[in-house]
Amino acid sequence: MSYQNTRIAETAELLKARLAGLDNKPDIMRSVELKALFDELKHLPADKKAQFGQEVNQLRQELTTLAKAGQDEQESLPPIDITAPFDVNVSQADRPQLLPSETGSKHPLMTELETVLDIFYRMGFTAVESREIDDDFHMFGSLNFPEDHPARDDYDTFMTTQKDKNGKPYIAPAHTSTMQHRVLTKHKANLDKGRPIAAVIPGRVFRNEDLDARHEHTFYQLEGVFVGKGINAGNLIATLKTFLQEYYGKELDVMTQPFYFPFTEPSFEFALSCPFCDKKGCHICSQTGWIELLGCGMIHPNVLKEAGIDPEVYTGFAWGGGIERLVMMKYGIEDIRHFESGKLDFLRQFS
Ligand SMILES: [Zn+2]
Repeated sequence: MSYQNTRIAETAELLKARLAGLDNKPDIMRSVELKALFDELKHLPADKKAQFGQEVNQLRQELTTLAKAGQDEQESLPPIDITAPFDVNVSQADRPQLLPSETGSKHPLMTELETVLDIFYRMGFTAVESREIDDDFHMFGSLNFPEDHPARDDYDTFMTTQKDKNGKPYIAPAHTSTMQHRVLTKHKANLDKGRPIAAVIPGRVFRNEDLDARHEHTFYQLEGVFVGKGINAGNLIATLKTFLQEYYGKELDVMTQPFYFPFTEPSFEFALSCPFCDKKGCHICSQTGWIELLGCGMIHPNVLKEAGIDPEVYTGFAWGGGIERLVMMKYGIEDIRHFESGKLDFLRQFS
């Protein structure tokens, strides 16, 4: 479209060039240059008004058409549905590109957990995943914690305001032992077939603790349960020692000391000789040569009975310990809070 009036022709060129760069095309209709032409029209003498007015209106019409066409073109681009099912017919090059995998890495805890579980698989254990919300019965009742037992307060549990069918608050598990009753109940048919119950249970646990280099509110535990005929504390110690020697790749000594848990009898605190200094004493073991690692014991007869297993016929052991502790010792990590911190400079050391 051509314009006789030079000012209108120049303004047309200017505005058409600007239109190409606009995200919202209709904005061109509000440009000061176009408005100036209409202002000018009002003040023209009558003999010049007609032609000038016709060309200004022509320009407005042209810009309106161009703006609408440009906007339609923008809006007609197909929206990308990121939830669309994967189309196998689309060639690799035309598929949406995800972030390259080399910019991410597996969290060191998950890598180590795989190593830990692999050792237990080879020892004949099966793995059962824990859960992140549970009830009072599995946290306490099924584990021989009587109502109002003071040991219930030792765990600094997080509880929900919502109540279960027994009127008890739900619990963010403070230990993976919440799974013991389920594992015993689910696998007790093994015993009738002459096979043991042998399970390890990794899971996230939560405690309302004051945080420092050794205490986190959220961490991972590995629970172990083994039940069969004639199982004794010697089997417990041998199992843990075999696992630890495999994990650290060296000969280690272990030591147990009497302890108290409601769900095991007898109960032990389990320590291993420091893998760093071979009992000579170093900063990792606080110069003692030993590292207290986990709690364990022979499963209390009441816990077996609660799961419908006859404690006169079968016995078993259980343990539970923090996975972070194991990993911290393996790599000399000084602060447990690194694991949940999301600090890339920490995580990249393991990728
Ligand atoms: Zn040491």
